[in-house]
Amino acid sequence: MRCEVLAVGTELLLGQIVDTNSSWIGEQLAAAGIDSLYQTKVGDNLERIVGCLRFALARSDAVICCGGLGPTKDDITREAIAEVLGVPLQLDEGVAARIAEMFSSRGRQMTANNYRQAEVPEGATVIPQVRGTAPGLICRLGDRTIYAVPGVPHEMREMISRAVIPDLVSRSGERATIFSRTLRTWGLAESALDEILAPRLAALDEAVAAGGRAPTIAFLASGIEGIKVRITAKAPSEEEAAALVEVEEDRVRAILGPAVFGADAVNMEAALGALLLERGLTLGVAESLTGGLVGSRLSAVPGASSWFRGSLVVYASEVKRQLLGVSPGPVVSESAALEMAVGAARVLGADVGLALTGVAGPDEQDGQPVGTVWVGVAGDAVGGPAATVLWLGRYGGGDREQIRQIANISALDLLRRRLLDG
Ligand code: ATP
Ligand code: MG
Repeated sequence: MRCEVLAVGTELLLGQIVDTNSSWIGEQLAAAGIDSLYQTKVGDNLERIVGCLRFALARSDAVICCGGLGPTKDDITREAIAEVLGVPLQLDEGVAARIAEMFSSRGRQMTANNYRQAEVPEGATVIPQVRGTAPGLICRLGDRTIYAVPGVPHEMREMISRAVIPDLVSRSGERATIFSRTLRTWGLAESALDEILAPRLAALDEAVAAGGRAPTIAFLASGIEGIKVRITAKAPSEEEAAALVEVEEDRVRAILGPAVFGADAVNMEAALGALLLERGLTLGVAESLTGGLVGSRLSAVPGASSWFRGSLVVYASEVKRQLLGVSPGPVVSESAALEMAVGAARVLGADVGLALTGVAGPDEQDGQPVGTVWVGVAGDAVGGPAATVLWLGRYGGGDREQIRQIANISALDLLRRRLLDG
């Protein structure tokens, strides 16, 4: 069973509103095990809506239209559907009565154009309206189906769940569920991930070609959140789909090793926090170029108080020296990063210290290029003080904010890996 989504509304094309309806419907279709291969947006134009509907029905079993069911002149989804079906619009007495009732119960005057919403293509089944005033539609055309739901998100969601998904599932005859898990990675480029996983991807393709059930793997670059690797499986029940995903997850984790820091909603700071908590360790941070961004990320994790002691923003060189005991000399250096990490752990009374000092730009500093970042760690749990230099100048062409953000997550990842090794 293939079902696509057609979002109607000129405002969608102009970028005045974002098409969140299609994403939500896509999620529901996936969860119900219905293949959804296309999503289209079209303006409020009869000819073009008709064209999109015909196109959709030529390649899919069903299409869900959202939007354009209201009472105004530009709401023409009903007309377009009637044209595709080759039938006239008829006044549905039941719908008209419900609309009139809704108006009178709210003590409002009903305008003539509200009756437009009671006009439905001949032969269509009405999805009764519960909240708004526009009813939804289920229209059969041979073995194909057109569904129409309002554009207003809460009305749309209610009708999709109550009427559209159940109808699609009963017509598909197949009970299937799609389950997916997203592994989150840091430290590998998308091309590198692709290369490392290529043999596995090929094996999965072969399994499918041989008629077996196999999960699919997709990459999703997510900027400063890293690259996501999504594993998806389809099976008759959720348990079976989840089992397929779990087996594949173990394989992918074994292949990617420590590049995987978490799954689904687990971000880098949550992963690091979980690791510290598991080991019974506390963390103290000293940050220069990130000016508090690291502390902000860490403190956003629920329950951070059990492992996060605090973060010192030590921006000026004198502050680094006075507060943390950093020796005279350049403050973007290996020795400064080491002393900052040791100092942070001492001053904050933490088991583990993390420090960042670097050049965020736009100008170089002490002859060091933009994007030079030293990350220091300290504490027995990480095998004693150590510092690593990162070259982040290539990110965003050396954009200051990008460098600060990349330095932030990179430092957290570095500490996470040190804890795993140490
Ligand atoms: P109404 O009866 O309110 O006119 P309608 O079915 O005609 O409903 P539209 O006029 O197309 O729907 O949209 C109504 C409102 O719903 C829009 O102004 C917008 O806020 C929201 N909306 C419409 N389509 C979408 C969409 N695809 N994604 C998110 N929101 C949408
Ligand atoms: Mg409208």
